[in-house]
Order: sequence, then structure tokens, then C-alpha cells
Amino acid sequence: MIKIREAAQRHALAANDVRIKVSYGGICGSDVRVYKGTISYAQYPLRPGHEVIGTVVEAGENVQLKVGTKVVVYPNTYCGECEFCAGGKTNICIHKKPLGVAVDGVFAQEVVLDAKYIMPVPEELPDERAILIEPFAVTVHALKKANITKGTTVAVIGCGTEGLLSIALALYQGADVTVVDINPVKLALASKLGNVQTRLPAEVKDEVFDVVIEAAGVKDAIQQAMAVVKPGGVMVPLGITMDTVHLSPIHIVRNEISILGSIIYTVEDFADAIAHLQDPALFVEPIISKIWACDRYQEAFDDALSGDYAKIIVKFD
Ligand SMILES: [Zn+2]
Ligand SMILES: [Zn+2]
Repeated sequence: MIKIREAAQRHALAANDVRIKVSYGGICGSDVRVYKGTISYAQYPLRPGHEVIGTVVEAGENVQLKVGTKVVVYPNTYCGECEFCAGGKTNICIHKKPLGVAVDGVFAQEVVLDAKYIMPVPEELPDERAILIEPFAVTVHALKKANITKGTTVAVIGCGTEGLLSIALALYQGADVTVVDINPVKLALASKLGNVQTRLPAEVKDEVFDVVIEAAGVKDAIQQAMAVVKPGGVMVPLGITMDTVHLSPIHIVRNEISILGSIIYTVEDFADAIAHLQDPALFVEPIISKIWACDRYQEAFDDALSGDYAKIIVKFD
């Protein structure tokens, strides 16, 4: 059940904190899983949301960001001290906590966060692109594993937001892209991103690809992803499933297939996502399906739950 609550009184800011007036929030698959109650470690009541942009309205005394700056939230806490953080891999920090899942999220008209989780967004980047920074950073991180250049053959399996953003980025990088999904509506949506081949899973015959991005997060898709990687190729599992999947070691060994898992993004990937989104040649506009006002929160979540749309946005101001 979703409730909209009036917050308690505002607290004074700590020296490193920033108060943000949230403008837009994007509903993610993890918000939907929190809503459905399928994340075992989520503690309720829980405020969802991690994909938000907004404006700084107040800054603590140690904070460099100025009031009025347009910003995006980096929504996974990290310690900055473990061996992974020390190597720049904040995405696998042993103390990482995803906002909106492990702790309260940021779907609110105002939020307070440590300034280290706030990044400035170029003023000229339109809100409809800026709201994609966080999910796009996931894709940026994943596709860096695959070394895509002009003419690389890429299959993207699954056309949720991450799949669609992977398609957009692979096209931007000059790849020859084939898209696989069980839902023809999603395949039609993928076609709006540019020149792609589309296939229902059963239509993929003997084709093989240099790079396969598995963005469906279901057993059959992972199994198919393994079957269609070219010898010497790379499979990036990006979707999330708790299922156990049967893999054939001999197939992986003989064909020298690399399976490179990818989880969220580092601070650097966030910066790269912002830089790419500033280039109009990266075509992502069809990925936003609807924008709901925040008093229509329930309808926004119902749309996200339906599975018929790409990104659903809530407008908080
Ligand atoms: Zn997300
Ligand atoms: Zn750490």
C-alpha cells in the first residue's frame, strides 16, 4: 500500500548536508519490487525512490554547492574506506546501502543528504534527459565492460528501462544492435530508438553476437544470452534474478566466453552518464513513457507495475 505523508518538522542541516527541492523522480524496477514486497531485506514503512533530480535550497557550512544549483542524487551510500572504495569501485562497497531499498528513499518534495551524494547537473541539460542520469549510469557501467565500437554486433535481451538505455548507448557507440523481448509492444518501443533488428525469443535462430547484454533478469533470457554469444565474446548479465541458472562449463571454456557481471555504477560512471546525455546524438527520448503529478503517485506506480511502459516519472514540484 502506498501512502503520501506530511513530513515532520524540518531539521537544521549538519555541516556536510544539503537540502534539495526535488523536481522529478523516476520509478525504477527496485521501487516496484519494494512496493510488491519481494525484496527480503526491505524494512517497512519505507519511502521508495532513488532516481531524482532537483535544486539545492539550503547547504550546510562545509558544502561547496550553491543554493539554486540543479543537482542529481547518487543514491547508493558508500564508506569511502573499504578496499573497493579505495580503488574507486564505490558500486561494490562492502557498506553500500541503496536508498529506497535498504534505507528511506528520496521520493519526497524535499530531502536532506550528505553533499557527497549530490552531483551538479549542467543547467542546459533538459529535465527529461537529466532524470535518466541514474538509470543511464547503470548502462554506462555495464557497456564499459564490453568495449563496443563501430560495427560491434550487440544483442540486448529484455527491453525494460535498462535494456532500452543499453540499446540507445550501443547505437550511440556505433554498434549493430539486435533486440530480443517476449513483448511485441516493447520491441516496437525499442525500434523507436533507431535502426535495430527486433526478435521474439523464438525468432533468434543461429545468430551469434560479439556482445550480449542480458537485461531481462529472468532465467530463460540468461540461458538464451549464453547461447548467442559469439566465441571470444562477452555476456554482461545486468538483470537481477534470484533464480539458479544452468550453465555449461564446456561451452564457456571451449568458446572462451567472458561473463562480466555489472552492478550499478561508480561516481565516475555518473559523471560519464551526464556527459553523454549532454550530447543530443544520444537518442533517449522515447524511453520516458509518462509523467505524473505527485498527487497521482498511486497511478504512477500502477503504470510502472503494469509492465507496458518504459520509464514512468513523477513530478514533485
Ligand atoms: Zn534506478
Ligand atoms: Zn566502501
